[in-house]
Amino acid sequence: MGKDGLVRAFTRRGLLYALCLLAKTFVAHTEYSGGHMSSLMKIKPVLGRIYARSKLEVKALWYKGTRRTCCFCNRQASTFLPAGFDVEVLRKYHVVGGGFRDEAKCPYCFSLDRVRLLDLFLEHCTNVSSEAVSVLHIAPEYHVVPRLKSVLKDRYITGDLAAGAADSVVDVTAIPFPDASFDAVICNHVLEHVPDDGLAMRELFRVLKSGGWAVLQVPSSNELPATLEDPTLEDEEERLKKFGQRDHIRLYGRDYLDRLKTAGFQATLFDWKTDPRFGGSENQFGLCENELVHYCTKP
Ligand SMILES: [Zn+2]
Repeated sequence: MGKDGLVRAFTRRGLLYALCLLAKTFVAHTEYSGGHMSSLMKIKPVLGRIYARSKLEVKALWYKGTRRTCCFCNRQASTFLPAGFDVEVLRKYHVVGGGFRDEAKCPYCFSLDRVRLLDLFLEHCTNVSSEAVSVLHIAPEYHVVPRLKSVLKDRYITGDLAAGAADSVVDVTAIPFPDASFDAVICNHVLEHVPDDGLAMRELFRVLKSGGWAVLQVPSSNELPATLEDPTLEDEEERLKKFGQRDHIRLYGRDYLDRLKTAGFQATLFDWKTDPRFGGSENQFGLCENELVHYCTKP
């Protein structure tokens, strides 16, 4: 398609998208205000479908290109969307797994860079797809859940501190499962919220079978020799200033791996850039350049 054709197609679809958005808003407002236009309600699902379709087509033209591929929705795009918050402390220490990133989010399914890395790691570097393993996934990343559920069936259990957010209510410092219950545990971006992270690590270790593995990602800085933390700090603005997020009580440094080892794990770092299946030097899957996978095993 030539440039003029592309502009025409884009304008046509853009207008359709705008019209559908207007109509959808009008119908929603009519419904909300309790008007007597119930016949409009009947076309609401149709409008919704046209709206979703035209939105997708506008996006497909806007992001036309093959530079990036999303491993969840399998769509290609010229670029991914920015994501994360621009917080001074995260910038200062070049924190990986937090802060603002230029191209972190898939424009179609909104998967994040760190979740795409998790998905590729599970696929290529673990036995979740090849063996009948049991997995406990705490604070589950919602893009990953359907895949693991479909492969592992009832051997896959999700847990969250918030009731209703997952299969089981799980406090990571008092995990409600017996010792050696699982072949694998996934618990990402949780430990930086937990006052006694050592206890949480020992709990994760306890429920793992001997020979099992865990992926335990956190925001961390390679420039900090030791973790900055203050579990007693309750002022959210101070937490934001010191640790980069209002509900974080620490910012992990290079000692994170040692903390995992103290809990009993054999902990290693996996660099996706060493494995061509993760998108190579062109970073096909739009991963965070410096993010390493904290891969732990139980001897
Ligand atoms: Zn996607």
